[in-house]
Parts: sequence; structure tokens; C-alpha cells
Amino acid sequence: MVAEDSLQATSYHTIAINEISRIEKLISSWDANSQTSEINRNAGKQAVPVDRELYNLIKRAIGISKLTDGAFDISYASMDAIWKFDGTMTKMPSDNSIKKSVASVGYENIVLDDANSTVFLKLPGMRIGFGAIGKGYAADTTKALLIENGVQSGIINAAGDMNTWGKQPNGKEWNIAITNPLNKNKVFAILPIKDGAVVTSGNYEKYVTFKGKRYSHIIDPRTGLPSSGIISVTVFAPKAELADALATSVFVMGIEVGLNRINQLPRIECVIIDDEGHIFTSDTIKINKP
Ligand code: ADP
Ligand code: MG
Repeated sequence: MVAEDSLQATSYHTIAINEISRIEKLISSWDANSQTSEINRNAGKQAVPVDRELYNLIKRAIGISKLTDGAFDISYASMDAIWKFDGTMTKMPSDNSIKKSVASVGYENIVLDDANSTVFLKLPGMRIGFGAIGKGYAADTTKALLIENGVQSGIINAAGDMNTWGKQPNGKEWNIAITNPLNKNKVFAILPIKDGAVVTSGNYEKYVTFKGKRYSHIIDPRTGLPSSGIISVTVFAPKAELADALATSVFVMGIEVGLNRINQLPRIECVIIDDEGHIFTSDTIKINKP
């Protein structure tokens, strides 16, 4: 963040950290005390009253599922039980276990009650998780809060989800570097970002390899199989939340369908890199090579 002095910067920093922690407590499915975990525990049993904030996030997530024909789906999470990307997996899950876990996936089975602000997962064993949208959301709320607190200019990096506003102290726009997915120590492109977000999803960080084939941590909710073919998707959007969700979605939709969908959306752009290093961009994007 751009500030007058280090004291002011530190106080801005504290605001940001606290906000991210607040969001994490609300949406983390790893935290047994979160409302998200409460929703998951009650799958197939009953509706759970939740904060409006979480309710609205789930509602927007369902909207993105519709926009992407189900490629994006927060109820992918029951598949976390069979796909593990922490190094503990030694072989492909069986067809049967894949079939079983897909059976409890489907955003159509997330029942929202607007009047009572409740969420009900209809199917027993169903789970939701915000792995593909939560960081983007946190980057958006943090940016909004900092602006509210008078921060003129800044850049947030939520583990690859970048959100910017204002300009650098030297008056120039913020520039974002995209990692070359085939060599992560190298920058592949540098792009100026004006009051907006850019998010990169890559399978060069979390994946498993079986018999020489790389399986990414992004899973097609309709088949239960990890997406393949693409190694990196970068999405530019006014908001980090949408950029985050769409980057994940394009992985699942594939190059052709993904670009097609992105080209239909106003103020959204994307860059896709496939596993042979080919680069594909949406219609109006310009890349300056570093
Ligand atoms: P990263 O966390 O590496 O930036 P993403 O934003 O693309 O990557 O999110 C990937 C995470 O999203 C996965 O680790 C998993 O938790 C979750 N996820 C995987 N597949 C889907 C999907 N089809 N729809 C929604 N979330 C998904
Ligand atoms: Mg994402």
C-alpha cells in the first residue's frame, strides 16, 4: 500500500490482515467452527442459517456455475475425499470411487432460502468449498475496506490473486508479471493493471502425476476427473472474485469453450497456456513481452 510513512503503512497492513482472517473464519471448510463447516455437517439433514455475507457469496457462486454450465461448482468439494494433492496419493482413484463422489456433486442441489438466509445441501455427503473463489473474494473485500479507510493506492496479492487500485508512487500504473508455467522462475509477460484484478490458476503448483500424466487440482464436477491439457489460465476482470472463479472454470471448460465464453463477457480477458507451451488469448488482449 502507498502510505505517508511506515507507521501508517503498518496500520493499513493490520486492517488488511484482520479482514483476510475474518473471511477465512467465515468460509474455510478446514475450520470446524466456520459456518461453511456447519453447512457441510448438515448435508442431507437440514437447512443452516448463515450470515448474509456467506449467503450472498454462495448465491454468486451458483450464478457462476450457471454461467459456466457447471464447470465451476463449489459443491465439487466431496471429491476432496478421493483426490488429494498433498503428496499422499499413490495411484488413480478407482472408477467406482470417482462415480460415487460425483453423485454428491451438483450446484442444483444447493437450496437457498432468501427470506431466512439459510443454506441446505440436499444430498447426504454433499460438501461445499471455496478453494476456487475465496481468495478472490477476500482480495475484493480487503481492497474495498482499505479504500474506505482512505488508502489511495495499493496492490493485494492473495497467493496469485492480484487486485490493484490507484497508481504507484511514481505515478505509473501497477504492472503485473505472469509466471511462465513451463519455467516458474521466469516471467512470461508483464501487463499494466488499472483498478482491476488479475488471477492466475496454474497446475504447476498443485498436481499429481500417474504414469507420466499430470492431473491438476482443478476437477471437472461433471466427470470427477481432473482437467488436463491446460497448464495455466490468467483472467483479467474488474473484480478478483470473478477472475478467480473464471480462471478455474476455463481450466475445466477447455481452450475453445473457455475462450468463447470469456469473449462473451464484457471487461473480462484471459490468457491460456496449454501443456505444450502454446499461448491463446481472448479477442482484445495485448501482451508485451518482457
Ligand atoms: P489456486 O488455489 O491454485 O489459485 P484455483 O483458484 O483454480 O487455484 O482453485 C483451485 C481449487 O478450487 C482446488 O484446490 C479446489 O479446492 C477447488 N476446485 C477444484 N475444482 C473446482 C471446480 N470445478 N469448481 C470449483 N472449485 C473447484
Ligand atoms: Mg480460481
